[in-house]
Amino acid sequence: MEVQLHRFLPLTTAEGPGRRACVWVQGCPIHCKGCGVPWTWNPNKGTRISVDAIWEMIMKSKNEKNIEGITFLGGEPFEQAEALAEIGSRAQADGLSVMTFSGYYKEQLEKMNKPGWKDLYDVTDLFIDGPFERDKLEKHRPWVGSTNQRFHFLTDRYQALEADLVNLPDRLEIYLKKDGTVEANGMVPSEVWDRLFKKI
Ligand code: SF4
Repeated sequence: MEVQLHRFLPLTTAEGPGRRACVWVQGCPIHCKGCGVPWTWNPNKGTRISVDAIWEMIMKSKNEKNIEGITFLGGEPFEQAEALAEIGSRAQADGLSVMTFSGYYKEQLEKMNKPGWKDLYDVTDLFIDGPFERDKLEKHRPWVGSTNQRFHFLTDRYQALEADLVNLPDRLEIYLKKDGTVEANGMVPSEVWDRLFKKI
């Protein structure tokens, strides 16, 4: 089984609770207006990589970066639900938490019934659903871009956060790589990305 991968982050504190590895998939057919990552839309870009290879990277993160869980985001994770469900299942068995984002609402996922969607849902501890709506910018809760997006605490693992969401910070991470390129992730509006990375 393989994943069309946009990027793997071995350690992030900006994409969910605590220290996490992040599997950022390539390909999203939803095309929200104002999407902060339109470069993840094309399903033919990115890298084709096996589930086993991603799992090896996650295990390396666990051993070297002391992560508590993994986050699936995109792109649209439920376009590749079968492969991500397999990774999520291994993570759960290994004691790692699983956080999954979707631009689809749960009700849409049920209706569409894409292969593997329920398996991915069932291995998720914290599920965030709904498309980005740029006229409903979120200013209080972490990790989401708009107020329509919903948090579903599917297990007890992060239940305690529910009452305190507005006090959790959003973070922006910027990496200067050895080859001189800059990479960033976190939740900021697309205008902020434009200001940060516009060509001089
Ligand atoms: S679902 Fe996410 S990645 Fe897809 S268009 Fe909307 S904001 Fe962008």
